Amino acid sequence: MNDCIFCKIRDGEIGKEFIYQDEDVMVFPDINPLKPTHLLTVPKKHIPDFSSLEDNNLKVKILDTIQKMVKEQGLEDKGYRVVVNGGGAQHVDHLHFHLLGPMGLKVGW
Ligand code: AMP
Ligand code: ZN
Repeated sequence: MNDCIFCKIRDGEIGKEFIYQDEDVMVFPDINPLKPTHLLTVPKKHIPDFSSLEDNNLKVKILDTIQKMVKEQGLEDKGYRVVVNGGGAQHVDHLHFHLLGPMGLKVGW
């Protein structure tokens, strides 16, 4: 049994409005937004962690998608941050990239 919450979102078992999706990636809002824009870009394939992302085509696809989201969300000149938590610093063990903004200059974390 797959208890992965992002696999369930992918499979439609948890209803979610996608901001963008294609055969490889999906983008949806974080359920607990830390900034006015807080999106998650998620590969559809269950990849547990950033360190296990090996597919170079998928790497490019994910970055392309995030770049598109920065532009579509009007964040190019508004301040934004792209974050991936891994190695145990993540709550959900299905690779995802946070896009957060707008924000100003940050000192430290
Ligand atoms: P991380 O700590 O990097 O693994 O972040 C996991 C993120 O997933 C958190 O920011 C959560 O708010 C978010 N999250 C958890 N469940 C859902 C859900 N059902 N829909 C959207 N975002 C979610
Ligand atoms: Zn999964």
